[in-house]
Amino acid sequence: MGLNLHTHLEGWVRPETAAELARDMGVPTPAGGWEAALRMREPADLTVFLAHVAAAYPVLAAPGAMRRVAREAVEDAAEDGCDFLEIRFGPSTHARPGFALDDVIAAACEGLADGSSATGLAVGLVVCLLRHLDDETNVAIARSAARAAGKGVVGLDVAGDELLYPSLERYRTPYAIAAAAGLGLTAHAAEAAPGRAARDAVRLLGVTRIGHGSHIADDVSDLAWAADTGIAIEVCPTSNVLTGAAPSIREHPLHAFLEAGCRVVIGDDNPINIGSRISDEEKRLLTEGGLTTEQLRAIQLTACDVAFTDESTRAALRSRFSAA
Ligand SMILES: [Zn+2]
Repeated sequence: MGLNLHTHLEGWVRPETAAELARDMGVPTPAGGWEAALRMREPADLTVFLAHVAAAYPVLAAPGAMRRVAREAVEDAAEDGCDFLEIRFGPSTHARPGFALDDVIAAACEGLADGSSATGLAVGLVVCLLRHLDDETNVAIARSAARAAGKGVVGLDVAGDELLYPSLERYRTPYAIAAAAGLGLTAHAAEAAPGRAARDAVRLLGVTRIGHGSHIADDVSDLAWAADTGIAIEVCPTSNVLTGAAPSIREHPLHAFLEAGCRVVIGDDNPINIGSRISDEEKRLLTEGGLTTEQLRAIQLTACDVAFTDESTRAALRSRFSAA
């Protein structure tokens, strides 16, 4: 059971698939092999975590490889019992001469559609701007995402180093382009920066959801603001413990969010890298996190409400969880 509303496509590359693609694409095997390169074995920090995620980048930079990884992600999610998968990626990371932004997005959409038709799992692709890119490239990404609205792309996000690139003002134009195309809007914010970054994301970009948002929990006025506005906070418990952003599942800021009356949804962020899928996240919230089944049900129903999907899919998901 469960809706996965915050997960990165780059974090779904099976080690055996990486090995096969690398062989076909002439990518060298990392020292220690693909399993060790992709899997994080113990808590470390964000830099170590991102190195594990980035290990998969070289095997994603071709249409067939991108399509295969996207299809396998849906297959793996369906096998895990996921009810709805909203998967995100930054297409510019994988674009090359001859593999343009539109083609990268199309390959991911095709793979997701392949997986969805094979498994029946409802999926959507969220396209990420990246903070380190220049404004022109981020506008080009938003235009590509807008062109693919209705063809698999359901939303826009911004990801990357929030402390090095704190300004959100820069993304007003790309978010306006995405909004005009009817895409859902979310942003990684207040993950590393203070809670007010989440307020800026709502005010400047019009997002309805916030990725991570951990630092909203640092300040009671930010918590009250989040509860009042009804912004949904996308929480990734295990990932946050492994990056050192939260000391444990029990001491995760999601408890402060729930106590303050904020809307919370969950994601597994990068399941291959962290070795935890959405079913594992839900189990850990109930056991290590001490959540009640009613609290988990509320999280699932919130996810039904805020998922970037059409109303018939939303209604079907809602009835599944209401009846559970
Ligand atoms: Zn993320």
